[in-house]
Amino acid sequence: MGTNYLCPRCGNADPRYVGYRNGEPYCRKCIGFSGASVEAKHKNTKGVYLKLDYELSEEQKNLSAQIVKNFVRGVDTLVYAVCGSGKTEISYAVIRYAMSKGMNVAFALPRRDVVIELHERLQAAFPRNSIVAVYGDHHERLEGDCVILTTHQLFRYPHYFDLIVMDEIDAFPYKGNDVLDGIFKTALRGHCLLMSATPSKEVVKTFSTGAHQMLTLHTRFHKHEIPVPKTIISKGVLKFIFLAKRLRNYQKERKQAFIFVPSVSLSETLFSRLSLACKGGNYVSSKRVGREQIIRDFKAGKYSYLVTTAVLERGITVANLQVVVYQSDDRIYDAATLIQIAGRAGRKASAPDGDVLFLADHESEAMKHAISEIKYCNTFLQNML
Ligand SMILES: [Zn+2]
Repeated sequence: MGTNYLCPRCGNADPRYVGYRNGEPYCRKCIGFSGASVEAKHKNTKGVYLKLDYELSEEQKNLSAQIVKNFVRGVDTLVYAVCGSGKTEISYAVIRYAMSKGMNVAFALPRRDVVIELHERLQAAFPRNSIVAVYGDHHERLEGDCVILTTHQLFRYPHYFDLIVMDEIDAFPYKGNDVLDGIFKTALRGHCLLMSATPSKEVVKTFSTGAHQMLTLHTRFHKHEIPVPKTIISKGVLKFIFLAKRLRNYQKERKQAFIFVPSVSLSETLFSRLSLACKGGNYVSSKRVGREQIIRDFKAGKYSYLVTTAVLERGITVANLQVVVYQSDDRIYDAATLIQIAGRAGRKASAPDGDVLFLADHESEAMKHAISEIKYCNTFLQNML
């Protein structure tokens, strides 16, 4: 039997994870990834029309140009950009370039909610091209000019993509997952643009093999600062009372709010108590059936608040949003996660300010670190204005 089996899907070569079926080796690491896949075919060059209703900042334009230059020269790019700095938009130029050459293009993200949201944004930006979304049980159509997909779905595209843009590379579940990492490398036959608000040392190391360049984007979109979180120390039932009062104030001011909670079970119990004190809300979590519809309804203004787990932590854009992190001292919240959450608030130019409240029994190291990092970014930003 061959001892040098190399999994064609995830790149696993560890014999401890190689099984045999009728004498044929198979990989046990990525066995959970199964389903239809596609083969790369030749595509012709095509017209690409980019429609943007606003202008990119000088810094975004410069970075966009550098990324295209890198891609053409065969250099991978890692962009380090604080949340809300408009990093999605800086990928448009290289996506346009690759699509116009008839290349296979992907935009990969860890979370399906963000895939759905980004699909809408990219279809609006490239109205004449076919932008396809692939996630979970949504995979009837696998091919288009640009495929927006969860990182899990990359297994369907072996040696397929000439360009993969991957955002939130530090986010669960991609972080530290060598099967997903192997699948990503198998899917990529060309070059990549990786983006992160909070790249860990491991991520930087993982992607620093071969030709690459790391770029930094610090300016927040429209040059607004990230709201600095306020810490409210409050225990037991007082914490709940504070929250209920604050929500009623937001409702009076016609401001919508997210209340982040550290667990699925708490999203349910907190909402069931809150809904008695404060009508007009809802809750979502990874376990909540129909959450995409709830999120759409929230954006349409049907709910005044949403209790949510970290499922909404990244990438969802709502104007004039207030953010409360309930039990922000919980161990699941590291500084990077708290910064991402703070970046949800005040994301629209018309309403740049928003509350970000850390509601906790005590101030954790992660909370302190997140606040000082946001202040640092804002100082950096002021010096650039
Ligand atoms: Zn494998």
